[in-house]
Amino acid sequence: MAGFEGVEVGFAEMGAGDAIISVEATDMSFFKKLSNLFSSKSGAPMGWVTVKCNRCGEVIRARVNLYNDLSLEYDEDGKGTYFCRKVLIGEQHCFQRIEVELTYDANRKLLSREITGGQFVEV
Ligand SMILES: [Zn+2]
Repeated sequence: MAGFEGVEVGFAEMGAGDAIISVEATDMSFFKKLSNLFSSKSGAPMGWVTVKCNRCGEVIRARVNLYNDLSLEYDEDGKGTYFCRKVLIGEQHCFQRIEVELTYDANRKLLSREITGGQFVEV
Protein backbone atom coordinates (compact mmCIF):
# COMPACT_ATOMS: atom_id res chain seq x y z
CA MET A 1 0.00 0.00 0.00
CA ALA A 2 3.00 2.27 0.05
CA GLY A 3 2.48 3.03 -3.67
CA PHE A 4 -1.01 4.53 -3.15
CA GLU A 5 0.33 6.86 -0.52
CA GLY A 6 2.86 8.12 -3.03
CA VAL A 7 0.08 9.02 -5.55
CA GLU A 8 -1.86 10.98 -2.93
CA VAL A 9 1.16 13.06 -2.09
CA GLY A 10 1.65 13.76 -5.77
CA PHE A 11 -1.87 15.27 -6.24
CA ALA A 12 -1.45 17.43 -3.17
CA GLU A 13 1.67 18.97 -4.62
CA MET A 14 0.01 19.74 -7.98
CA GLY A 15 -2.91 21.57 -6.31
CA ALA A 16 -0.58 24.14 -4.85
CA GLY A 17 -0.07 25.87 -8.15
CA ASP A 18 -0.29 29.67 -8.34
CA ALA A 19 -2.95 30.28 -10.95
CA ILE A 20 -4.49 33.68 -10.10
CA ILE A 21 -5.38 35.54 -13.28
CA SER A 22 -4.93 39.27 -13.12
CA VAL A 23 -8.04 41.23 -14.21
CA GLU A 24 -6.46 44.61 -13.68
CA ALA A 25 -4.52 44.32 -16.90
CA THR A 26 -7.68 44.88 -18.98
CA ASP A 27 -7.83 48.41 -20.38
CA MET A 28 -11.41 49.45 -19.69
CA SER A 29 -11.10 52.80 -21.43
CA PHE A 30 -10.55 51.02 -24.72
CA PHE A 31 -13.86 49.19 -24.43
CA LYS A 32 -15.61 52.37 -23.36
CA LYS A 33 -14.38 54.16 -26.47
CA LEU A 34 -15.47 51.23 -28.61
CA SER A 35 -19.01 51.19 -27.24
CA ASN A 36 -19.29 54.96 -27.65
CA LEU A 37 -18.40 54.51 -31.30
CA PHE A 38 -21.26 52.10 -31.88
CA SER A 39 -23.88 53.83 -29.75
CA SER A 40 -23.40 57.33 -31.16
CA LYS A 41 -26.23 57.56 -33.70
CA SER A 42 -25.57 60.04 -36.45
CA GLY A 43 -29.19 61.00 -37.13
CA ALA A 44 -30.01 59.74 -40.59
CA PRO A 45 -31.36 62.50 -42.84
CA MET A 46 -35.06 62.20 -43.58
CA GLY A 47 -37.04 63.18 -46.62
CA TRP A 48 -40.78 63.46 -46.71
CA VAL A 49 -43.15 62.65 -49.50
CA THR A 50 -46.77 63.77 -49.38
CA VAL A 51 -49.28 62.27 -51.75
CA LYS A 52 -53.02 62.42 -52.32
CA CYS A 53 -54.97 59.30 -53.16
CA ASN A 54 -56.61 59.43 -56.58
CA ARG A 55 -59.60 57.43 -55.43
CA CYS A 56 -60.60 58.79 -52.02
CA GLY A 57 -58.54 61.97 -51.79
CA GLU A 58 -56.80 60.98 -48.57
CA VAL A 59 -53.51 62.74 -48.03
CA ILE A 60 -50.73 60.38 -46.97
CA ARG A 61 -47.40 61.54 -45.69
CA ALA A 62 -44.51 59.10 -45.78
CA ARG A 63 -41.03 59.41 -44.40
CA VAL A 64 -38.04 58.45 -46.50
CA ASN A 65 -34.88 57.50 -44.66
CA LEU A 66 -32.24 58.90 -46.98
CA TYR A 67 -29.75 56.25 -45.87
CA ASN A 68 -31.72 53.07 -45.27
CA ASP A 69 -34.46 53.42 -47.88
CA LEU A 70 -32.27 54.30 -50.84
CA SER A 71 -30.51 51.83 -53.08
CA LEU A 72 -27.53 52.91 -55.13
CA GLU A 73 -27.73 52.42 -58.86
CA TYR A 74 -25.34 53.34 -61.66
CA ASP A 75 -26.38 54.79 -64.98
CA GLU A 76 -24.58 54.11 -68.27
CA ASP A 77 -22.03 56.86 -67.53
CA GLY A 78 -21.11 55.15 -64.30
CA LYS A 79 -22.69 57.95 -62.31
CA GLY A 80 -24.29 56.84 -59.09
CA THR A 81 -27.87 57.72 -58.30
CA TYR A 82 -30.06 56.67 -55.44
CA PHE A 83 -33.40 55.10 -56.03
CA CYS A 84 -36.32 54.61 -53.68
CA ARG A 85 -39.63 52.94 -54.32
CA LYS A 86 -42.46 53.13 -51.86
CA VAL A 87 -45.98 51.77 -51.91
CA LEU A 88 -48.33 53.83 -49.82
CA ILE A 89 -51.73 52.68 -48.65
CA GLY A 90 -53.98 55.06 -46.79
CA GLU A 91 -55.69 54.46 -43.50
CA GLN A 92 -59.13 54.87 -45.06
CA HIS A 93 -60.84 51.83 -46.48
CA CYS A 94 -60.24 52.39 -50.19
CA PHE A 95 -57.09 50.21 -50.38
CA GLN A 96 -55.74 52.14 -53.33
CA ARG A 97 -52.06 51.42 -53.77
CA ILE A 98 -50.07 54.55 -54.44
CA GLU A 99 -46.65 53.79 -55.85
CA VAL A 100 -43.95 56.39 -55.55
CA GLU A 101 -40.56 56.21 -57.21
CA LEU A 102 -37.94 58.71 -56.14
CA THR A 103 -34.54 59.29 -57.70
CA TYR A 104 -31.78 61.12 -55.87
CA ASP A 105 -28.34 62.23 -56.98
CA ALA A 106 -25.11 61.13 -55.31
CA ASN A 107 -25.62 63.82 -52.64
CA ARG A 108 -29.08 62.44 -51.87
CA LYS A 109 -30.79 65.44 -53.44
CA LEU A 110 -34.11 64.66 -55.10
CA LEU A 111 -33.74 64.55 -58.89
CA SER A 112 -37.06 63.21 -60.11
CA ARG A 113 -40.15 61.45 -58.87
CA GLU A 114 -42.92 59.39 -60.34
CA ILE A 115 -46.28 58.45 -58.92
CA THR A 116 -49.09 56.13 -59.88
CA GLY A 117 -52.45 55.95 -58.13
CA GLY A 118 -52.17 59.40 -56.63
CA GLN A 119 -50.72 62.88 -56.92
CA PHE A 120 -47.87 64.62 -55.17
CA VAL A 121 -48.98 67.32 -52.75
CA GLU A 122 -46.70 70.22 -51.91
CA VAL A 123 -46.68 71.10 -48.21
ZN1 LIG B 1 -57.60 56.21 -51.07
